[in-house]
Parts: sequence; structure tokens; C-alpha cells
Amino acid sequence: MKKTNEEMSTVQNLYRALGISDKVYYFCKDILDDLRQRFDEIDQNAEYNQLKVIKAMQENRVSEACLLGTTGYGYNDIGRETLEAVYASVFHAEDALVRPQITCGTHALALALMSNLRPGDELFSPVGKPYDTLEEVIGIRPSKGSLAEYGITYKQVDLLADGSFDYDNIKKAINEKTKLVTIQRSKGYQTRPTLSVQKIGELIAFVRNIKPDIICMVDNCYGEFVERIEPTDVGADMVVGSLIKNPGGGLAPIGGYIAGKKECVENAAYRLTSPGLGREVGASLGILRDFYHGLFLAPAVTAAALKGAVFAANIYERLGFKVVPDSTELRHDIIQAVEFGTAEGVIAFCKGIQAAAPVDSFVVPEPWDMPGYDSPVIMAAGAFVSGSSIELSADGPIKPPYAVYFQGGLTFEHARFGIMKTLQSVADAGIVQF
Ligand SMILES: *Cc1c(COP(=O)(O)O)cnc(C)c1O
Repeated sequence: MKKTNEEMSTVQNLYRALGISDKVYYFCKDILDDLRQRFDEIDQNAEYNQLKVIKAMQENRVSEACLLGTTGYGYNDIGRETLEAVYASVFHAEDALVRPQITCGTHALALALMSNLRPGDELFSPVGKPYDTLEEVIGIRPSKGSLAEYGITYKQVDLLADGSFDYDNIKKAINEKTKLVTIQRSKGYQTRPTLSVQKIGELIAFVRNIKPDIICMVDNCYGEFVERIEPTDVGADMVVGSLIKNPGGGLAPIGGYIAGKKECVENAAYRLTSPGLGREVGASLGILRDFYHGLFLAPAVTAAALKGAVFAANIYERLGFKVVPDSTELRHDIIQAVEFGTAEGVIAFCKGIQAAAPVDSFVVPEPWDMPGYDSPVIMAAGAFVSGSSIELSADGPIKPPYAVYFQGGLTFEHARFGIMKTLQSVADAGIVQF
């Protein structure tokens, strides 16, 4: 007992040295004490997903040789081929494409779409507006090289006000041209709810019932390993995501993946490299070790990020702010929104996240007019991998409702500290009293 007290006071001293007041420390500690059961459930999911990943690695006989890389054309890259088999196993899919040549999530999604759609086809989103960067891929905002330029049309049906599917209008929207349905799992930076995998399954079943040969693609960004099942377990033909989010486990320095039906993945491979070459080329250089290592850590890293999100929701809800998801909701992605209602709140929060970073902690983030946005945006990130949002990071547009979105944390201890820093920063700015 005595030892425990001593240890605790040492931790508290260190928090003090890092700028956390006793008031913030105890306020946060009280909240944490109430979250033990929630955290247990998250840990149980992580345990399940950790075993799923290990099983996939063992069944595909990952060996030391797989961790090495190839150069040049990259023919017969056993590490690359095995990693793709591991991803296919993890997602219970027929096949997967996992490459450093896929530069980011948007690229992976664009690749999946452009390779599986042909002129005259129609793309359909039954879950409302897709992620911002996809607007240019699709051509919702005119853009060079968009699907629209290739004669691929687009239809969209928004979710109903309560976040449920608008089945009547979905049915009406599907026609003889509809080739591919895109379903975004995470709310991204919108206010709609994130979709559970089960809900995605219901939507896919409904769509298939109307048109059996439709390709169902899920934008899986931020969703991987949050639940025990993935969209491919409920009928998705393709899941697509970024390796500098959940499945890279914080270690992948670049990359994207597409897992799903053999034909869909093959189409993507021919588009990524070249007709005739497909998946046979694409040297992995020295990157495979980080891809394997990161995937291995991904279930635990995702769990850490989830705990951070739940912790923050509980803190800021108790202080009277609207949080999405709320303090008790089941989680389907790792993003947490806190609505401050004032620019000062958003800015103070981001400053706190930055001040807690392992890299660039001394930098003070400021709102700026980022290209492509209609209001100034503030971003906080001090990451080992530039732009990685599985690492603790936050951003918020400086416009009503003045919400900040944050995600990540490679360890819960870091997420915890970062959130405590946000509270300290928000309190120091006089925005909350407690
Ligand atoms: C991050 C994200 C993307 C795009 O990924 P980038 O790597 O930023 O290009 C697409 N969709 C969703 C839902 C995302 O969260």
C-alpha cells in the first residue's frame, strides 16, 4: 500500500512538472476511475483482434525473410505477397493489395473506384456526402482526372435526420447503370453517426436484394479493429483504408490497402501499376518490417486511441459540452468531436494536444487558411510519421459550431496526458471552471 502511494505521488509530481495542475489531475482521475469497465470491454476487443492478427500471421507462415525487401521491379517479393495474404486473412477476404505505392487513404479509395468503374457506370453513395477529398475524386467538385471526366456518373442519398438509412430513396436511386456502392464507415468530420459494421451489413443486404451484382465498397478509414468484425465479414466486396491510420499501428510510414473479392483487388492492381503487370511489380524496398510490425501492434494501438476518445468524451461532457459520440455510446471509429461553441475553445484544445506531443511540443498551433477549406483551420500534431492520425492529433475549422475533432494516441498513457493538457489549456484560458 505504502509503495503504491509513493508511486502515485511520483506520477503526480511528473504531471506537475509537465504543467498539469492538481485540480486537473484529480478531476481526470475521478473520471478515469469510473471508466474501468468501459476500458475492460475495449481491452477484450483488442485481445480478440490481437489473436486474429497473430493467427493470420501464423497461418500465412510469416518468416524472417518476409521482413526484408526487394528493389527494382520487385518480382517475387515474398514479403509483399505474404503481407497481402495476411491482410486478406485478417479481413476474411479473398485477396488484398497492401502497398507503399498507395500514397494515402484518398489514393487507395480513388484506386478502388477508378479500377472497378468503367465509362457509363454510375457510382452511388447511400450514406450521404463522402469524405472531403473524395469530392474531387468523384468530380462533385470539378477536378482534373476525376471519375466525372471519364464519364462515370454519381448519385447520392443522404441519411435521414436520425442517422438511419433512407431505404425508399435508396431503392429509387439504384438503376441499371449503378455499378458500385460506396459506404463510408466513419463519420469523418461530419456530424452524422459512424456506422456500425452490423448496420453496414444491413445496408449491403438491402442493396444486393435490389441489384445482386452491385459492387459494395466500404471506406474503412478509422474503423479497423474497433469492432471484432469488419465490413468484409458482412458482405462488403472491398474494404479500403490508410496505413497511417489504424492498421499501420503507428509504425507504417506510408501506404494504403484494399482487401476483398479477388476480381476487385486484381482490377486495382492493374490500375496501380499497369495493365499486364498488375500485382507482380512494386518493390517493397525496406518498408515491410514496419508494415508487419505495425499491423501486429494495431489492435492494441487502436484500443489505446479508443480509450482516449472515451476519456475525453466523459471529461468534456461532464463540463457541459456537447460531445460526439457521447460519453456512453458504443464506438465504431476512433474520432471524437467536442463542440466548444467558441473559437477560443477550439484553439485552446489544439494547443493542449500540441503541448503534449513527443515531437514539436514547443510549437504553438495557429488557425490558417488552408487550401481547399472555406474557413481557417487549426491543426495540432506532433507525430513521428508526418500527418499520421493514429498518433494523437486534433483539428478544427474555425467556424460554427466550433467543434474540435481529435483522434489517436499510440498509447493510452499518451492520449491521457494529451487530454489532460487540453483541459489544462482550456482551464487556463478561462473557458471552463471546475
Ligand atoms: C482519412 C480518411 C480518408 C482519406 O485518407 P487520407 O489518407 O487523408 O487521404 C478518407 N475517408 C475517411 C473516412 C477518412 O477518415
